Amino acid sequence: MGEEMKNYMNTAEQVILKTYNRFPVVFERGEDVYLIDMEGKKYLDFGAGIAVSALGYSNQDYKNALKDQIDKVIHTSNLYYNKPAVEAAQKIVASSGMDKVFFTNSGTEAIEGALKVARKYAYQKDSSKEYEFIAMNHSFHGRSQGALSVTGNSHYQDGFVPLNLRAVFADFNDLEDVRSKLSDRTCGIICEVVQGEGGIYPAKKEFLEGLREICDEKDILLIFDEVQCGMGRCGSLYAHDIYGVKPDVMALAKGLGCGIPVGAFVVGKKASQALVPGDHGTTYGGNPLATAAVSKIFDIFEDKNIVNHVKSVGIYLNNKLNELKNRYTSIVDHRGIGLMQGLEFDRPVGPIVSKALEQGLLLISAGPNIIRFVPPLIITEEHVNEMIGILDTVLDGES
Ligand SMILES: *Cc1c(COP(=O)(O)O)cnc(C)c1O
Repeated sequence: MGEEMKNYMNTAEQVILKTYNRFPVVFERGEDVYLIDMEGKKYLDFGAGIAVSALGYSNQDYKNALKDQIDKVIHTSNLYYNKPAVEAAQKIVASSGMDKVFFTNSGTEAIEGALKVARKYAYQKDSSKEYEFIAMNHSFHGRSQGALSVTGNSHYQDGFVPLNLRAVFADFNDLEDVRSKLSDRTCGIICEVVQGEGGIYPAKKEFLEGLREICDEKDILLIFDEVQCGMGRCGSLYAHDIYGVKPDVMALAKGLGCGIPVGAFVVGKKASQALVPGDHGTTYGGNPLATAAVSKIFDIFEDKNIVNHVKSVGIYLNNKLNELKNRYTSIVDHRGIGLMQGLEFDRPVGPIVSKALEQGLLLISAGPNIIRFVPPLIITEEHVNEMIGILDTVLDGES
């Protein structure tokens, strides 16, 4: 590594708060599904900036839409209407069959809003109780105090308890456990449809169906966090479509902006009146630049049939990862749907991820022993082959 890149990394450690142990590379630009560092080295990207850059780095339609919007206006605030927000919301409503959208700047904020909807819905029926949520073990919903309150992982919560929302935790995919945690204070159940950070665990159909039944029975809200698994990643536009189970509130982000920071919570008919003027707000959320990105992304998804592409290339990736699992005894499990796949190893994967980086392949982990594959949704079978080739070399060196 040259001096200049080293200097940037050293300076970063001086001026940027150290909340991450970063990998030793400074990226300068992107091309197709590759990132290129400041020394010109090219890396095949199977992390997509943590499941964000769904369209890769060279979609000219997307870039032009952003450039056009920059020339028109970037920000106006939510005191006024703006065209891109209306168009983007229409596309989300039409594609989800849900009722209304609130745009945020991140996934965490989408979760915060979703939690507020559920609390307010319960409060409107009975204002005398302190409400609580049922959330899942090994879940991840974000780092703010509210989102952290429903994140079932001590790794993220330690040092910050007590948190300010009441939550009890049940085992994911264990309906009986969820039932045992119900009380007259429960105002909502929140879960990811496919757990991401927790290690790529897809929900079982009976589990989501059971949650739906419980929420209907108790008249409480079912919140699906589709921040990572939504927006085509699992081979349907929304992951819950695969299961045929509808939430009352859905949180989106990551792929929703393909790199422009934007999220949304989407509310179904049942709870669309829970929040009223004054209950919630944001200065930036849904600004014309962010929503111009969202609106264009929906068009591109449709034009390019991205969801069907994910379905077919996802099957290919799935098969290739199965083959890999059969070749290495260190791989103990393989899970996932579409382009959200995970390989679980019998050891920490940090060294594998670091060696892959040296070989020009970007991989990310999900928990200590799991490599997660969340590439741009536009990858081809050739890219999968290239990834498998590099990973094979790395794993051969391991054993
Ligand atoms: C990334 C993620 C979040 C948090 O989103 P941010 O944009 O980082 O705030 C919430 N839920 C899930 C499932 C995520 O993967």
